[in-house]
Amino acid sequence: MSEKPRHPPVTQFPVRDDHLMIAGRTVHELADEIGSTPFFVYDGPAIAKRVNQLRSILPEAISIHYAVKANPYPALVKDLCNRVDGLDVASAGELRLALNTSIDPTAISFAGPGKQDHELELAIQNRVLLNVESQGELQRIANIGEQLGIRPRVSSRINPDFELKSAGMKMGGRSTPFGLDSEQVPDFLAAVKDMDVEFSGLHVFNGSQNLHPDQIAAAQRATFELAVKLAPAFPAPMKTFNIGGGLGIPYFPGDKPLDLQPIADNLSQLLIEYSDLVDGVEVILELGRYLVGEAGIYVCKIIDKKVSRGKTWLIVNGGMHHHLAASGNLGQLIRKNYPVVNPDRIDRGPREHVYIAGPLCTPLDILASNLDIGTANPGDYIAVLQSGAYAQTASPQAFLSHEPAIEVYLPTDSAEATT
Ligand SMILES: *Cc1c(COP(=O)(O)O)cnc(C)c1O
Repeated sequence: MSEKPRHPPVTQFPVRDDHLMIAGRTVHELADEIGSTPFFVYDGPAIAKRVNQLRSILPEAISIHYAVKANPYPALVKDLCNRVDGLDVASAGELRLALNTSIDPTAISFAGPGKQDHELELAIQNRVLLNVESQGELQRIANIGEQLGIRPRVSSRINPDFELKSAGMKMGGRSTPFGLDSEQVPDFLAAVKDMDVEFSGLHVFNGSQNLHPDQIAAAQRATFELAVKLAPAFPAPMKTFNIGGGLGIPYFPGDKPLDLQPIADNLSQLLIEYSDLVDGVEVILELGRYLVGEAGIYVCKIIDKKVSRGKTWLIVNGGMHHHLAASGNLGQLIRKNYPVVNPDRIDRGPREHVYIAGPLCTPLDILASNLDIGTANPGDYIAVLQSGAYAQTASPQAFLSHEPAIEVYLPTDSAEATT
């Protein structure tokens, strides 16, 4: 039996005898167990491994929070709660899910513009930390707290004057619906002082899906510098300092897995340099896709195979209604293929160039174009890797009225037993 550790950019799953292996099973075996396609499988042990790797390399003082919107599948969130220090939510629905886990409600934070009064009430009743997005929201929070007779816990969510984009670190912020512009924060903190609310700290989220350690490090440094500038305006000592996330995963040809060491080194340095600022403060990294994205696959079955004007098309039974991002319609400017494979013919045997389309009657429903793949036929499976984050719940499931995909979570304990 030959074992290959990875098929780029697959980083979480081994390949054995040319089959992709998930928790010791081939996709065929998984499909037989699950009973129908399409499905998502989320591999708990792969997520646990990812968290352990992070913990082993990051300074011990850094807390890790999970941003639930990346993947709110309840069994996954519940299991992950045994490994992270807190959860970040962005709606009452996510908050109810978080309150239904083992996480202490005071380790839950709630961000998002447009929080409604009923959502604020639920958060305040449960002592959840509110990342406040505006002066108006602060006023509503104070009013609701007064009605409930509970002192709300608040943090200032900041729209910084720098930005971490996949293209690089940009200085000079932009206008957004998220948070308070950094220049508005001193006035906001003065208002916090005057109201019957408990000041917790700052929340700075400056970007997502970045694969450049130097840029992430620069953004983290700028975040600490911003906090130092604002510190004289703090109405009480800071308790929590949420420095955002931004850690990316490789999706496309040429993407390289993020090197964590320089990020960890930089954070260690910042904790020393800014010890006056962060002494006794919980410094939090909030991560979504970095924790779960690589641990999920999406599997469809090939229904038809045909040639149109010289191009070979595989028509599969899943597509953009389950996985908008893989179809290229979730924010990509130029469509690029996700890593899509024939899970039973990874490297060996005949190959072909194909286009893969889902069943929806729209030309947007494409899972791969001009893809080199191990030859596959109707009845075979295709697997979309890197599908553990922003997949089913970030997709237009009702479009064309197909069934949702089945979701399966392989928990850390039982899956370990089967590998
Ligand atoms: C979406 C989001 C995250 C998670 O982003 P990832 O790219 O999945 O790590 C973290 N924090 C906030 C405030 C978010 O909105």
